[in-house]
Amino acid sequence: MNNETITKADQVITQTYKRFPIVITRGKGCRVWDSEGRCYTDFVAGIAVCNLGHAHPKITEVLLRQADILLHVSNLYYTVPQVELASWLVENSFADRVFFCNSGAEANEAAIKITRRYFKEKGESERFSIIAMENSFHGRTMATLSATGQEKIRKGYDPVLRGFDFVPFNDIEALKRKVGPSTCGVLIEPVQGEGGVRCPDPEYLKKVRQVCDETGLLLIFDEIQTGIGRTGKLFAYEHFGLEPDIMTLAKALANGLPIGAMLAKEHVASAFGPGSHASTFGGTPIVTSVSLEVLRILSEEKIINHCREVGAYFKERLMWLQNRHGSIVDVRGMGLLLCMELDVEGASILNTCMARGFLINCIQENILRFIPPLIIAKEDIDSLVNCLDEIL
Ligand SMILES: *Cc1c(COP(=O)(O)O)cnc(C)c1O
Repeated sequence: MNNETITKADQVITQTYKRFPIVITRGKGCRVWDSEGRCYTDFVAGIAVCNLGHAHPKITEVLLRQADILLHVSNLYYTVPQVELASWLVENSFADRVFFCNSGAEANEAAIKITRRYFKEKGESERFSIIAMENSFHGRTMATLSATGQEKIRKGYDPVLRGFDFVPFNDIEALKRKVGPSTCGVLIEPVQGEGGVRCPDPEYLKKVRQVCDETGLLLIFDEIQTGIGRTGKLFAYEHFGLEPDIMTLAKALANGLPIGAMLAKEHVASAFGPGSHASTFGGTPIVTSVSLEVLRILSEEKIINHCREVGAYFKERLMWLQNRHGSIVDVRGMGLLLCMELDVEGASILNTCMARGFLINCIQENILRFIPPLIIAKEDIDSLVNCLDEIL
């Protein structure tokens, strides 16, 4: 069964992914099982998506109930779950309005479009350039890969879209120098995810906010990976004592159903009028009702507190490993967005972990990233740390 699926996949699916040779068939909480019946503790969570773990009974219940009522009608009409989800997000964030779509890239696409349009409406058409960060990741559509500060993501797709400049993350002077007459916004992940789990220096994001205020730029936070509790707050910006003008969400927002959202303050949001932007599937009743349940569980069951607590514990344990093994050059991250940078490639360690029943993630060749469901138990963290200790 296993081999047949893999052989067939290699024939009929575009070869965009380098996959591990297992077929995952089901999950429960922080565990998944493959077609051979092997069990894995999941420290990947669908790349920071399944924050409440797999097959959560309350989510399943809402999904089934809503499937029996209404899946989709288009945004020609009002639907209750979409309005409820938008209200929840507005009440629990800096934002006044929400645009719904289906993925992270689309949410960033909406953020880029609204930023440009905001300045057009103000009569400042010459301001269309967004400053983004080196080593950032914002998606794979033409606009979002143009906004992504990694050569390997852009390679082969020239000419990329005009209107994106890059500066090093955590370098406020470089940002100040880059602002010019065509600059309209700054796009930044408060903690860089795919680029290597890089945290901002203390006060850096506040200074970015200051630069934006002084020069009239819109500040866009890409919280697609950091949002929905991942860093130990509902949104990462809450750690840093400032608010963006625009924020994008996706990944964990519906715990595995595809959803994206672009949130903005009123003065920015009003740049989107009827017909200016749209998405057929954006905010369907099925996806938004699930998302609303995800957010209810997250707040009612105090899962973000748990994330902060076990995240701190996990980081301590990783630093303990670092003390014991010279090949670990750095341990970084916040909440349950953590990583361990190695002075060797991470692939063989990852494969050994997998053989021993742990799914972990390797980015940029030598950085092991740990992004488990936020409900992960300390015992599971200990088991992984012991496994890593033995392998190293
Ligand atoms: C995953 C990710 C994206 C892209 O999301 P997709 O849903 O894959 O389009 C964009 N920005 C950040 C920070 C991400 O982590």
